[in-house]
Amino acid sequence: MIPAAFEYARPTTVDEALQAIAEGGDDVKVLAGGQSLIPVMRLRLAAPETVVDLGRVAELRGVRDDGDALVIGAMTTHHDVMTDPLVQQYAPLIAEATETVADRQVRARGTFGGALVHADPAGDLPAVALALDAEFVIAGPEGRRTVPAAEFFVDYLTTAVEEGELLVEVRVPKLAGEWGMRYEKFNRVAQAWSIVAVAAVVRREDGHIAEARIGLTNMGTTPLRASAVEAALAGAPATPETIAAAARSAAEGTSPTSDLNAQADYREHLAQVLTRRAVTAAAGL
Ligand SMILES: Cc1cc2nc3c(=O)[nH]c(=O)nc-3n(C[C@H](O)[C@H](O)[C@H](O)COP(=O)(O)OP(=O)(O)OC[C@H]3O[C@@H](n4cnc5c(N)ncnc54)[C@H](O)[C@@H]3O)c2cc1C
Repeated sequence: MIPAAFEYARPTTVDEALQAIAEGGDDVKVLAGGQSLIPVMRLRLAAPETVVDLGRVAELRGVRDDGDALVIGAMTTHHDVMTDPLVQQYAPLIAEATETVADRQVRARGTFGGALVHADPAGDLPAVALALDAEFVIAGPEGRRTVPAAEFFVDYLTTAVEEGELLVEVRVPKLAGEWGMRYEKFNRVAQAWSIVAVAAVVRREDGHIAEARIGLTNMGTTPLRASAVEAALAGAPATPETIAAAARSAAEGTSPTSDLNAQADYREHLAQVLTRRAVTAAAGL
């Protein structure tokens, strides 16, 4: 179908974009890679009065080194994120998960920020951002604010980005050395969305797991941390048996849906299996 008619703005700076959003009327949509927004507009499930295209806002693109953190611009494409040397060195989990997102065409246009603001429960990057304790920099008419990942994903397809605001960049703490990471995704065919996936980040010390952070994809309306597993692993010996025992709590506190791909109890089972695999690999076993 053809989308309903809309006004179109193509700013070149964040300030111009915020102004265009403020002046765009009651229903304004920001356009990033368009991989989720355009299909929804073509189906007329969204009919914004104004579309503000961020494609020419150069300051929103790219990855930069900022001391203890990597800063990933919201408009950096999936392809550019996963091939970036800084991402590969300090946050390889992001590169690994992004490689599983859709296909080359979608990754060439879809953006890091667009995927995070869209916040699809089956999307791969939200659970990764949660496991990495990333921070989200949001710009609005009042200035900029920073929101931790734990508060960014509010509900189904809903984030802390309010009307009139823009996600500008994501700050990811640099992790290297004693940290290991793994993304385990279960889907029916290659290039499909996750039925369930698990992002694990583990710090190993003297044969023990000093700290484990585990993000779950598609186990609720938002990405979730497997807190019971994290607690069971903190300070535990890094052995396959300990990890397998801890992973049995992976579905605790989750609320997965049943749909054509999987029943809720099957998703709970997958969460346990994938958590065991992801933590084992992240712990270097
Ligand atoms: C065939 C197909 C398969 C896919 N498979 C997967 C998959 O396996 N895993 C996965 O994770 N994803 C998958 N995706 C989604 C993909 O990651 C998209 O790139 C992503 O959902 C949206 O990113 P985008 O840049 O295209 O955003 P857009 O479609 O342009 O925007 C999405 C939403 O976010 C808002 N938005 C975008 N950027 C900003 C910003 N900076 N500030 C505020 N609001 C913003 C828009 O207004 C819109 O509401 C798939 C998509 C397609 C088409």
